[in-house]
Amino acid sequence: MTKSIPHHIAGRPQAGRSGRTAPVYNPATGEETARVDLASVDEVAAAVAAAAAAFPAWAATPPLRRARILNRFLRILEDRADELAAIIVSEHGKVHSDALGEIQRGMEVVEFATAAPTLLKGEVTENVGTRVDSHSLRQPLGVVAGITPFNFPAMVPMWMFPVALAAGNTFILKPSERDPSAALVIARWLEEAGLPAGVFNVVNGDKVAVDALLTAPQVQAVSFVGSTPIAQYIYETAARHGKRCQALGGAKNHMVILPDADLDQAVDALMGAAYGSAGERCMAISVAVPVGQATADALVGRLADRLRTLKVGPGTDPQSEMGPLVTRQHLDKVRGYIEAGVAAGAKLVVDGRDIRLQGYENGYFLGGTLFDHVTPDMSIYREEIFGPVLSVLRADSYDQAAQLINDHPYGNGTAIFTRDGDAAREFAHQIQVGMVGINVPIPVPMAFHSFGGWKQSLFGDHHMHGPEGIRFYTRLKTITTRWPTGIRAGAEFVMPTMK
Ligand code: NAD
Repeated sequence: MTKSIPHHIAGRPQAGRSGRTAPVYNPATGEETARVDLASVDEVAAAVAAAAAAFPAWAATPPLRRARILNRFLRILEDRADELAAIIVSEHGKVHSDALGEIQRGMEVVEFATAAPTLLKGEVTENVGTRVDSHSLRQPLGVVAGITPFNFPAMVPMWMFPVALAAGNTFILKPSERDPSAALVIARWLEEAGLPAGVFNVVNGDKVAVDALLTAPQVQAVSFVGSTPIAQYIYETAARHGKRCQALGGAKNHMVILPDADLDQAVDALMGAAYGSAGERCMAISVAVPVGQATADALVGRLADRLRTLKVGPGTDPQSEMGPLVTRQHLDKVRGYIEAGVAAGAKLVVDGRDIRLQGYENGYFLGGTLFDHVTPDMSIYREEIFGPVLSVLRADSYDQAAQLINDHPYGNGTAIFTRDGDAAREFAHQIQVGMVGINVPIPVPMAFHSFGGWKQSLFGDHHMHGPEGIRFYTRLKTITTRWPTGIRAGAEFVMPTMK
């Protein structure tokens, strides 16, 4: 009998009752390993009710106590990271060491959130008027929801809920239906760490569940990470229903390589950034922009040599550098882009389509693929492929390279490789992208900074985690106080001014 993946509501696993399910596959073998329950509107309502019931007590729990629970959760994650990584590998396909890496980056947000008592401190001004004082507070919003993509089943939820919970909110997570199991493990471990029932809930599902969350009156805020069309839909629908929303979308991240860059360093950086996690990262570099023909020739030559030795295999094999894609459907889509690139006239330097892995013939594997002489009009340049396909677009000058990036509709991440401090500073200053690396290929901000892109890569005005996360999950209240000795006699009918 196929395994069923339930929801987690009010402190316990709850089997789905909608009668609708979706298959979950092991991407390395192509085998269907489970069916995930897809929530109905009523099941989402039950999760919202559980989170709303848990909110008053959780919001009243002193931040230090909330932080202690997160601290215990952190220790559980540390002790059992391997167990969680194995679950991620079995449904997502990424290599085990990479799954451990995403857990580590998620744990850093939990570490950040354990500073809740400090992070939630307000401000005080004595004597805003004579014998009148003012102070501000940050208070939780209530029930908040997170809707997450398949590519980081542990890390992306951890960009959201540690900060939301630390601030005193209760949370409903709707993970990707393609790799839902990590979310349920997290729910269990949070409760083992002492989180009261109903404070963190998981509803599995698809558009039905998402729409129910977006329209539920008790849900105060929605955090979303996924593709751009859905991010825009989430943002608009949430806003129409009066909710605060941060919706992070897709990406097309460029790396500029100037002629003075250390080329070996640039090639190593590109290999990891383009092909790590089979390119299924929103911060993956999918476009290399070498400046000058000599730089381009040298870069493409070295990349092609290195790419031919890339070890593609199941995520469970410690030798594998890159695992399979997430589903058959996604593999077909990425292969379609490679065909489109060839048809459009790009030069296919390394073709990953012929890969065959003995014992894994039904897995969703694609070898690392490299295109040269890509032009801005091609679909492989304009659109997000989200696979192990790197496009090289040759630029004649720094200005041309920077213009390309600024003209692109996405603005998530970008990087420049150079030894020229002036050029690097100019790049950081003028580039229209939210996260910039200087000789750093994947400039994912640490937990105590905030993560987010510009343009079509983010809808809303708050980035995730760090100080922006605290602002997103709290609302500001400012209190002005005067005690009897400061009160003058008589009513005043003019706008209060400082006296
Ligand atoms: P996706 O947009 O297909 O799905 C994301 C979430 O939205 C899932 O939970 C899914 O169930 C839900 N969803 C899908 N279709 C929906 C619909 N029509 N209505 C309502 N909800 C819907 O994204 P994905 O394929 O899971 O993830 C890959 C995408 O996520 C890429 O575009 C990638 O760039 C992006 N991503 C962005 C960031 C970032 O920080 N900007 C980080 C990770 C991933």
